[in-house]
Amino acid sequence: MSMAPTTDPKIQLLAGVAAVDITGTATEQIADPLYAAIDAEITNDRLCVKALVLRDEITSVVVITVDAVAIAEIGSISNDYLTNVRAQLHEELSIEPTQILINASHCHGVVCADVEQRTVQAVRQAWQSLVPVRVGVGVGHEDRIMENRRLRLESGRVADVRRAYSLPPDDEIESVGPVDPEIGILRLDREDDRTLAVVYNFACHPIQGVPGGGNTADLSGFATRVIEENLGDGGLALFLQGCGADINPIRYRDIDSPPDAEPLGHRLGLSTLRALKSIRSGQEGHLRLIHETVRLPRADLAPRIASMEAEQTRLLASLKQTMLNLKSFVPLLIKHRLSPDYPAYDSHRYLHERAVGRDHLRRLDATNNRHLDDYIDNVHTMEELTRLQVNLDLLRKHQARRTADGTGWIDAEVACLRVGDFVLVTFPGELPVEMGLRIKQASPHHHTFVAGVTNGYLYYTPTAEQLENRGGAQEDSDCLVDPSWQKQFEAKVEQILKRL
Ligand SMILES: [Zn+2]
Repeated sequence: MSMAPTTDPKIQLLAGVAAVDITGTATEQIADPLYAAIDAEITNDRLCVKALVLRDEITSVVVITVDAVAIAEIGSISNDYLTNVRAQLHEELSIEPTQILINASHCHGVVCADVEQRTVQAVRQAWQSLVPVRVGVGVGHEDRIMENRRLRLESGRVADVRRAYSLPPDDEIESVGPVDPEIGILRLDREDDRTLAVVYNFACHPIQGVPGGGNTADLSGFATRVIEENLGDGGLALFLQGCGADINPIRYRDIDSPPDAEPLGHRLGLSTLRALKSIRSGQEGHLRLIHETVRLPRADLAPRIASMEAEQTRLLASLKQTMLNLKSFVPLLIKHRLSPDYPAYDSHRYLHERAVGRDHLRRLDATNNRHLDDYIDNVHTMEELTRLQVNLDLLRKHQARRTADGTGWIDAEVACLRVGDFVLVTFPGELPVEMGLRIKQASPHHHTFVAGVTNGYLYYTPTAEQLENRGGAQEDSDCLVDPSWQKQFEAKVEQILKRL
């Protein structure tokens, strides 16, 4: 059942959508560790740029989604992409630059070199296909495909789940962080009830990969395809990355079966479709976009770098003398774990020694146990050194950028979009799930959703509390902001949401 379409021309919302392929090839794959797991010789599934144009009598807004890791800084899309796309759209279609939102799905697929032109092409096509629409808003639920990747340790520090390094031992891990199972959904239906577009927002890194290692839009790409195949009639689905900075696909570190984003994406797509069944369109499509710039403080990472270098030296010095090497360690460990009472030989030999009053095997076992313990301690130290080195390199990178920049601050775009009762906050940084949950909860608007990695790329932007762990995990290391950024950002969001 749906309500009658609105007839008041003042509030009649028009919408148009289009998709353009941006799948990259092997020649377009740049030598960046980001793409290390991808072999672009093989195309597993297509990557897309999609445009949604929304217009009423007063306002024109463009929402663009790109199957890419980011639209600046990391990956192959150049830093002037956003400015160039906006300039071309302003010139060609008179769209105000501040009325354009571009969200990267954050998948790690390889995109084509002329992604800029193809983005403009997508908007042009969407602009030429405007039709009257009705708006529906709602939420879906999916909690089976992701997990929080920050692990609180007994020591009070935090480690994280990456493929770049090993995890701390199980008995050092105390607890895990939250996830956000909510799928935020905007539904746009044509006057004849066919769905024109579904915009859905979800928080998770789409970085699982596919079994054959080919180029892929990853789990959000698979989710989108499931939704579109079920919508039919050319209806498009647009994925908006949420606050997924600290959210990984589930079983991200599985080494027993090939990585496979497809079943995860199917679950997300089917959960979105399930929710769509209960979302009725019919609201008046009030359209508004407030765009502001917030100036955020850059952190001085020099003190933390110095303390981590000291820690690196301490760990190196703590490596123990050991007679074992890998070749002798592995079989010895297996023997001691398999038969802790009789590791060196069969039990009868031990019984014989006892009967004749000797303890040679027992003495040997005790010595070998000490060697094993020392070797295992060294392995744990090596693993810690690996984590430390990877994160220290990130801190050094951002400190060098700070020095080169010289300003001590960085500007970031904060925008709030309203389409009917659908409210979306956007930000260029990778936001942690905790902040997404806070913003949603504090918002005066019932259906508020949050998208990171939008209108630029600002690396990870963790909470002030997470930044107390600076250098301990990727999000708090691959980060350029000072902890005070959070207050400034949240105050700005609160202010804009009140005005919206
Ligand atoms: Zn990320």
